[in-house]
Amino acid sequence: MLRAVMPTVRGPGRRASNSLGAMRIDTLLAQGPTWSFEFFPPKTPDGRREFEDAVRDLSTLNPSYVSVTYGALGGVRHLTRDIVLAMTRDLAFPAMPHLTCVGHDRGEIVRLLETYRDGGVENILALAGDPRDDGCDTGDFRYATDLVELIRATGDFAVGVAAFPEVHPRSPDRAADRRRLADKLRVADFGLTQFFFDPEHYRVMVQELADLGVDAPVVPGVMPFTSVPGARRMAAMNGTRIPDALQARMDAVAHDPEATRRLGVAVATDLVARLREMGAPGIHLYAMNRATSIREILAALDR
Ligand code: FAD
Repeated sequence: MLRAVMPTVRGPGRRASNSLGAMRIDTLLAQGPTWSFEFFPPKTPDGRREFEDAVRDLSTLNPSYVSVTYGALGGVRHLTRDIVLAMTRDLAFPAMPHLTCVGHDRGEIVRLLETYRDGGVENILALAGDPRDDGCDTGDFRYATDLVELIRATGDFAVGVAAFPEVHPRSPDRAADRRRLADKLRVADFGLTQFFFDPEHYRVMVQELADLGVDAPVVPGVMPFTSVPGARRMAAMNGTRIPDALQARMDAVAHDPEATRRLGVAVATDLVARLREMGAPGIHLYAMNRATSIREILAALDR
């Protein structure tokens, strides 16, 4: 699959050895605001075509880095590894794998990290992942912080971690959530957030972290939705509140896929503009393997 996409992307986008300087995301963030895109590993032939088209198209926008999700569909986990290694070899910007630890044993994780390290990958997003519904997880890890320690011991990676502006759904209360998040960010290099619709959630979280003495950069994640039921389902799963006014706008377009997509672009564009005004250290756009909405958001922002 990647042979099909990478040679096309490769020419102008290829990383010239030693010429582009820092590829660690913490260093890129220290240099100024970043723009990044998130992809997921496709599992069907149509999905692969969409993914390849989106990577090819969005690569021309010169993102600071891209990330590739992991494990949401158990059987395609190896694809994250293969895609990230190919991107690292062939693209001009870093590709960061997401890595979840719940359900993995230590040996499996070490082998995967060594493969990334030896393949030139310099950044890892360290995540707990979600426990199985039946609670019967086997594995050596429970929390993302445990994974951060192992990543540090295995290679000189820049390590990102997840942050939930509206509090992680499994946290017992807000204060506990913020304490755990602060502890996690103290051992990591940067954070990436879950998506949200009200920028105030992000502002308050950054302030709460500062009150706990943590000023690691936390990059807001922005999702330009393309389906009303899909956005509502994901929001419910992740504890993301959809403001009443947006619920009404969603109701008005829910029957029309293109109007829904355009609403997703409008909402994301406004959110990104406000986050940039707040001084966010970067913007991470959930591309969801489609280029059109991302292109429109960046064009509207003159980027
Ligand atoms: P943790 O930081 O471990 O936190 C989970 C919960 O445990 C929180 O409530 C926290 O407060 C609590 N906690 C932490 N440490 C302790 C402790 N020592 N004692 C008691 N409680 C503690 N999932 C995937 O499967 N694949 C992906 O690719 C993926 N990508 C993501 C990308 C982003 C940007 C985000 C925000 C989430 C992503 N997720 C992904 C989802 C993530 O795996 C789940 O939300 C998971 O439930 C929590 O992961 P975490 O890393 O935040 O966990």
